[in-house]
Amino acid sequence: MSGAEHRSPADVFQCWQVMRVIQAYLDDETDSRIAEEVADHLEDCRRCGLEYETYAAIKESVARHERPPHEVVRQIRNFWKDLLRPNQDPGA
Ligand SMILES: [Zn+2]
Repeated sequence: MSGAEHRSPADVFQCWQVMRVIQAYLDDETDSRIAEEVADHLEDCRRCGLEYETYAAIKESVARHERPPHEVVRQIRNFWKDLLRPNQDPGA
């Protein structure tokens, strides 16, 4: 698959939509249509792919009753800061 055929952006999950369901996705609690969208997005989007791996690492730590590694927590904070920052250019 080379990804030559692009779906319209409205059909494709945006990063923030993926982030909203990523934990449910990890827990296998999303319905199959959404799970498919997320899986698709994770393949295309390196940033969300990394985020998914980060959440998976946290989930694993929690399952083992460990605290998530410091580095992982910081990574998530930075990710959200970046994602939630308004994209508007005040000088425009
Ligand atoms: Zn993404």
